[in-house]
Amino acid sequence: MSSEKIEIPEDMQSSLVPEILSLDSKINFRCHKNISCYNQCCKQADITLTAYDIVRMKQHFGIDSSEFLKKYTVPFEMDSHGTPGVKMRTDDNSVCIHMTEEGCGIYENRPSACRYYGLGVMSRRDQGSSEDYYVYFRNKEDICKGWDEEDAETTVAEYRKDQGLEVYDEYNREWMQLILKKKSAGYSIGKPSEMSMQLFFMASYDLDRFKRFITSPAFSKVYLLKEEELEKITSNDVELMIFGYIFMRHVLFGEESIPMVENAYEKRYEERKEIIEMRRKVEIAEYEKKQEELKREALRIDEERLDDGHDADSCHGDSCKT
Ligand code: SF4
Ligand code: SF4
Repeated sequence: MSSEKIEIPEDMQSSLVPEILSLDSKINFRCHKNISCYNQCCKQADITLTAYDIVRMKQHFGIDSSEFLKKYTVPFEMDSHGTPGVKMRTDDNSVCIHMTEEGCGIYENRPSACRYYGLGVMSRRDQGSSEDYYVYFRNKEDICKGWDEEDAETTVAEYRKDQGLEVYDEYNREWMQLILKKKSAGYSIGKPSEMSMQLFFMASYDLDRFKRFITSPAFSKVYLLKEEELEKITSNDVELMIFGYIFMRHVLFGEESIPMVENAYEKRYEERKEIIEMRRKVEIAEYEKKQEELKREALRIDEERLDDGHDADSCHGDSCKT
């Protein structure tokens, strides 16, 4: 039976189900310096950062990505697989460390989540389709008075434009697709390894480290990048970030989009054979040791049970009665 055939009485319908908005949807929202809630949203900041957010902010401060991450972010796990994420650092009272009395201290390079505060955005993919698209909904937090402003009619498209979100959405899109893909299909080989997590973190957030990696001998032993291509990627943070997306698809999902040195894995195995063999032996020895311990523990429990049984069976006399 289709759900459309069921009618839910109006007084039982939840106002919490978000109304999905498109780019043309009309909304009534305005945020400005003289509003009573000015800065309130930055005093309860829970800002998840995207790859492009970090590019913009590290450029704002003119620092290396590793230094940026250390100084301004905190790590967290984005899902049950432990996919690494980073959030904007706050003080002990959840106030964003970039907030000033005059407003946002990094306004022109503030993250996409801050720009979207009044609206919620979701990446959605219809069943059977490989294309995803953004949908929007009103994010009416109690503290936010922007929704109560008079004569503040605009559209979702205008809101995005005013907030400078078009470029953010363009660059965040593929990164969000990677995360969606991971959620819907999983990694190509079961639970992601520690190394996959390291790669995801480096190519998503720590781009200067990623740059050092792709210019290292370890990388060129496996992947073939033309000199001019490498130059283009390493001289521009956005190009580097986009290459990071391609690299993650290649490594995490087996989409072989980067040309590889012939028999690279075999050659690498030959070079590292002794180390790999040694690691394998250590792993086997650890596994066998664990099995032995488990066997001993099982035997010990059996013996204890036997002892208890023996005592109970042999105890028929009055002296055993309590
Ligand atoms: S980055 Fe700026 S806009 Fe975003 S929470 Fe911090 S102070 Fe507010
Ligand atoms: S709470 Fe809403 S209206 Fe107030 S400053 Fe933040 S985004 Fe603007």
